[in-house]
Parts: sequence; structure tokens; C-alpha cells
Amino acid sequence: MEISLLSIFYLVGSVTFIIGLKMLSHPETARKGNLIAAVGMALAIFGTIFLYKDGDKGLHNYAWIFAALAIGTLVGTIAAKKVKMTAMPEMVSLFNGMGGACAALISVIEFQHNFRFSDTPGWHTTIGISIGTLLTIFAGLIIGSISFAGSIIAWGKLNGSIKDFSFKGQQITNIILFLGILVVSGYLIAFLNFNNYYLFYVVLVAALVYGVLFVLPIGGADMPVVISLLNSFTGVAAACGGFLYNNQVMLTGGILVGAAGTLLTILMCKAMNRSLLNVLIGSFGGNAAGNTQQSIQGSFKEISLSDAAVCMAYANKVIIVPGYGLAVAQAQHVCHELEKLLEDKGVEVSYAIHPVAGRMPGHMNVLLAEADVNYDKLQEMEQANDQFKNTDVVLVLGANDVVNPAAKNDPASPIYGMPILEVELAKTVIVNKRSMKPGYAGIENALFFQPKTSMLFGDAKAALQKLVAEIKTV
Ligand code: NDP
Repeated sequence: MEISLLSIFYLVGSVTFIIGLKMLSHPETARKGNLIAAVGMALAIFGTIFLYKDGDKGLHNYAWIFAALAIGTLVGTIAAKKVKMTAMPEMVSLFNGMGGACAALISVIEFQHNFRFSDTPGWHTTIGISIGTLLTIFAGLIIGSISFAGSIIAWGKLNGSIKDFSFKGQQITNIILFLGILVVSGYLIAFLNFNNYYLFYVVLVAALVYGVLFVLPIGGADMPVVISLLNSFTGVAAACGGFLYNNQVMLTGGILVGAAGTLLTILMCKAMNRSLLNVLIGSFGGNAAGNTQQSIQGSFKEISLSDAAVCMAYANKVIIVPGYGLAVAQAQHVCHELEKLLEDKGVEVSYAIHPVAGRMPGHMNVLLAEADVNYDKLQEMEQANDQFKNTDVVLVLGANDVVNPAAKNDPASPIYGMPILEVELAKTVIVNKRSMKPGYAGIENALFFQPKTSMLFGDAKAALQKLVAEIKTV
């Protein structure tokens, strides 16, 4: 068997994807892993452009190819540079949608390439399209279209431009529509001819509509899980493209994305203690969230900066719980300064990380890594929950849902069943946020009203800067 230079490029590309993916699993190696995978992707792209041959013919249309590459690179670079950390899930969703659209377009183009009418008058037939190819074309078309339409809706939900929407009988409509798509596709795969080929485009439109209807009713707070699921769809759709073109690197890349997206979806569901089905039909964090929750009676108490400073400076052990508000305030650097200052005073300091704190998986890890916080100081949820009872002070910084005891105590709460950081086990809890407003799930938090909790109101960055200044005087 002849080994071409291109197949070596593809092999190297595939290996770099795997190495890159592995390195992404640790913050210290993630950046390098991303670069390595990007180099592999560049090899695959330029290898294909310059080395691919179909018989004697290589690629042509270079002007179109390079114009598209230049536009894509420019838009991608600007978007990635400009995006705020908190808007990252939106960008991921949008880019994922583009991947789905590409996979669906490949299916449309390949369908048109392969489907030919006979030149003989009155003799309508197809040539050059096997059942296997058709099956792959339809899989790419359906999965890619659902991923594209669903990702665009998820993007709109995350940036607030699209509200949760559902109507009576929506789930059953979705099921019927999906079955309809499968039946029509199956029929076309078996009996495609000149009279029914237009149904291919009906399947395309139906899959797009299904993508919209599938994501519209899902609660806003569940969007990360949905994006991860759609990401795995895009991977599978891209792998279909790999089959169609007999392109190994596309196949490996697609399968890796599909598998990684599926694993991440499962892990996120586990972190919230919910099944995927419950996520898809549960409307968590949607418009209805909070309507059924017990209303919270009682008052809360505030703590002054000087009291908070004394409380922390004389503690033996402090655990910091970062949340979305810390990211909004960009207070990670001053938070690290507080940690070092307390340690200089002999206080043991660590961070408790909830798997869905912030607005994307690993958000808090990335945020704290940006401020050079030592990774060994980060405790996972189970580990932290064992530690709280031996902790003098828990400082909650812009976190809310992930420390809401309703998840354990209130079966009517939309977050009931989600594992939380049980900060109330500590001797003292100080919560920093700007007001008594709820967090992402839109529900009240009884923690703020408990006797051992004190509120330190203010923007996290400003509050921490003042706290650091106070502690220096203690
Ligand atoms: P929450 O959204 O529950 O709460 C964040 C809190 O931060 C708010 O109550 C807000 O209160 C406060 N805040 C906002 N800005 C500031 C600021 N500048 N300074 C200080 N405080 C501020 O965040 P959590 O991290 O606790 O929980 C994450 C939630 O997001 C969960 O419901 C999760 O399911 C969901 N989610 C998670 C994703 C993920 O993958 N990690 C993605 C999308 C959603 P106030 O306005 O009073 O200041």
C-alpha cells in the first residue's frame, strides 16, 4: 500500500488532536494543548488544500478557498479576542452552530454531486449513489441541521435575546416531528428517485425546525448541558463528512468531539444530580423557575468591612467559594492577593469549586488560573463538603445557586436535587454580592437569612480591595 504525504499529515493531525484533548483536561497544560491541536488542524487543512488529489486532479478554486479561510480566521480571531469570559458559552454555542451548519451543507452538496438524472428522455433514475453513502448523507444532514438550529437558539437564550418558550403538547409534537424525519429519510434511502428527491429538502427544513423546537422549551440554566449535547451532535455530523470524503482526520476529529461532548454532558448531568431527560424536559431556570419555591421569611444581617477583616485575619481556616459574580467583577487577582495576605498571617486558605459555578464548565478553574492561584488550593465539591465543618470562615464571592440549601431542603425548588457546596456547615459564612437579588436560577436563597451568615454588600472587586486594605491594618 502506498503511503502518501497527505496520509502522514492526517495521521499527525489526528495524533495532535488526541494529545491536545488530553492536555485540555488540566489548566496548566490546557493552553499548550489547544495550540497543539490547532497546529494539527492547520496541517490537515493545508495538507488537503495542497496535497489532495482525485486521480490527477488536485483542488482548484483557490481564490474561493483562501477568501473563505481569511474571512473565517479574521472573524474567529476578533470574536475570540473580544469575547468576555462570561460570554464564552455564547461564543462556543455560536461556533458549534457553524460546525453543524458545515456538516449539513456537506450533506447537501454531496447529495447534489451524487444524485444525477439519466440523460435518456423519460428514463428517470439515479446514478452513483449507494445506500451507505445516502445513509451517511442523511445522518450528516439531520444531525448537523439540528445542531445548527439548536445552537443558534441556545446562543440567543444565553445572551437574553430569546426567551424560553413552550406550548401545550410540545413534547409530543417534537417526538412526532422527529419520527417523521426518520421515516421520510428511511423511505428516501430505500426508494430515492426523480419523483421524490425533493423530499430531501423537506427533511432539511424539518430537521432545522426540530432543532429550534427541541431547544426552545429547555430552561435557561440548562443551556450549558444542551450546548455540550449539541457539540457532541456536531462531532458526529462532522464524522459523517469524514466517511463521505474518506477523510481520516475529519473522522477522528468528529469522533473525538462527539465522544468528548457526550462525556461532558453526562458529567454535567451528574454534577446537577439530574438525568439528561430531566434536563431536556425539566424547564430548570426557565420562566417558571421559583414560582413554586417556598417563600423565605426572616431578616438578614450585614457585616462591616472591619469586622469581616478581623473575622478572617484571626481564623485558622478560611474557604473561599467563587461564583459567577467574581467573574463579572473580574476580581480574581485581588482575590489571590487576599489569599496570600491571609496566608502570611498564618491562615490556611483554599477554594471550593462547584462544577457548575459561573457560566461554563471549568469557569472558576480558568478564572483562578488566570490570577496564578495554585491549582492545589482548589478543592472539588465532595472534598470541600467534608472540610466545611472544620472551617472557621467561608467567604462566598458572587456565588448564589451553588450554595443554595433549597437544593437539599425544598422539594418544590427547581434546583432540588442538585448537589451544592454545604457552606452552612462552617462556623461563619460571609457572603459578598451587590444586593439580595437571586442568581441564575431566579430563586431566593435561605442561606442569606441564616443566623451564621453575614452579608458584605458591594461589587466583588471593590469589596475585596477594601477588605485587603483592612486586613493589612489588623
Ligand atoms: P449565580 O448566577 O447563582 O449567582 C451569582 C451572584 O453573583 C448573583 O446572585 C449576583 O448577585 C452576584 N453578582 C453579580 N455580579 C456581581 C459583582 N460584580 N460583584 C459581586 N457579586 C455579583 O452564580 P453561581 O456561580 O452560584 O451559579 C451558577 C449558576 O449558573 C447555576 O444556576 C448554574 O446552573 C448556572 N449556569 C452554569 C453554567 C456552567 O456551566 N457553569 C452555565 C450557565 C448557567 P447581585 O446581583 O446581588 O450582585
